[in-house]
Amino acid sequence: MKVAKFGGSSVANAEQLVKVGNIIKNDPNRKFIVVSAPGKRFSGDTKVTDMLIGLGNAYHSGVAYEEQLTAVKNRFSEIIEELKLNQSVLADIERNIKSALSVEGSLESKMDAIKAIGEDSSAKILSAYLTNQGIPAFYTNPQEAGIIVSDEPGNAQILPDSFDKIYTLREKEGVFIIPGFFGYSTEGKLVTFSRGGSDITGSIIAAGVKAEMYENFTDVDSVYTVNPNIVANPKAITTLSYKEMRELSYAGFSVFHDEALIPAFREKIPVCIKNTNNPKAPGTLVVAEKEASEKCVVGIASDTGFCSLYVSKFLMNREIGFGRKLLNIFEDEGISFEHAPSGIDDMSVIFRDNKFTAEKENIVVNRIKEELHVDTVSIHRDLAVIMVVGEGLVNTIGVAEKATSAFAKANVNIEMINQGSSEVSMMFGVNASDMDKAIRSLYTSFFE
Ligand code: ASP
Repeated sequence: MKVAKFGGSSVANAEQLVKVGNIIKNDPNRKFIVVSAPGKRFSGDTKVTDMLIGLGNAYHSGVAYEEQLTAVKNRFSEIIEELKLNQSVLADIERNIKSALSVEGSLESKMDAIKAIGEDSSAKILSAYLTNQGIPAFYTNPQEAGIIVSDEPGNAQILPDSFDKIYTLREKEGVFIIPGFFGYSTEGKLVTFSRGGSDITGSIIAAGVKAEMYENFTDVDSVYTVNPNIVANPKAITTLSYKEMRELSYAGFSVFHDEALIPAFREKIPVCIKNTNNPKAPGTLVVAEKEASEKCVVGIASDTGFCSLYVSKFLMNREIGFGRKLLNIFEDEGISFEHAPSGIDDMSVIFRDNKFTAEKENIVVNRIKEELHVDTVSIHRDLAVIMVVGEGLVNTIGVAEKATSAFAKANVNIEMINQGSSEVSMMFGVNASDMDKAIRSLYTSFFE
């Protein structure tokens, strides 16, 4: 039994939905289908979810919204027409839009009801299409499927009781088409996951029905060893472990929603990332445990937007509680730290700089000076983090040497090195402007 999730580009228009239909037809094990809202049809197009957010904002702030409403309806009616579906499908979607606009509650809850229209309509359209194709397909609302979540609008968390209910879906005959991205609270209120959350639904269903595989269909053949915008035609990754996937996605591999792997991971369900436009390609398999013999470095991830705060104080190593006090200041100021490499008399704290305004910087620096009596404190913005990732790192001699030589060859100064205690990755901090050339050099050393 497989769970297949189709992302926004896979359900963006009628042509894509026909491909989805064929993929479902070609494997009777694909019994549970999770869909996103229609995404972009071409670059510059707008995702239906973004259209819905625009519509909801206009509607609830009392400004003209009719044009936006028509645009949303048109996206669906076009697909319905091209797929030659019964007009009752459109009527059903229109009714649903109307009732979503009149939901009561907080603004966030009202917005959630509107945001969910995209996925819900995709699921209705796909099940009508499959039925026309002679496949016994059933639109299954997340509440019916058993997806019960916390009442946190825009950030729902699955409640543990859901999984037993979802398991009972196994007993039913047919193909179930479930809209992604939302569930229901115990009180029966619709609540969405965070953006990109259809991946989460797919993973929850896969864990619930104890699927033999969770297939995640997108628009690339596989996950690549490095960002294709930096290195042209990089090698594909055939197999990854969950841990490696996590490390890669932390630093820029935006293949999966961060939280999505958790439910599948707990049940040790293999995840396969596949291409709707080329379903014959094997894709990338993400598994709990990998054969030891495979290549030691699987990928190189990178991300900009980091900041490092450096403090030094003579005899820091003897001062009990120094690290805690420093991190406490970060906690008080609401800054989540990412890494904290330390030396004998110094320590750095690395964090994302998106919320670190000049004003915040002032507060943090002054508090550190006053409360910790340090010798120096300095801030380094515009840092990029590069992660060399692979389960094999732990048993392989010379990886660090190979990596540092690659930086030297590219004439890039390493500002910081940190080998995570998991030993699944090695992290390097460099100036953001040096990132691309460092990545290219690392790629040549590890993959060519
Ligand atoms: N449609 C939602 C979004 O754009 C969820 C998803 O596609 O996964 O965030």
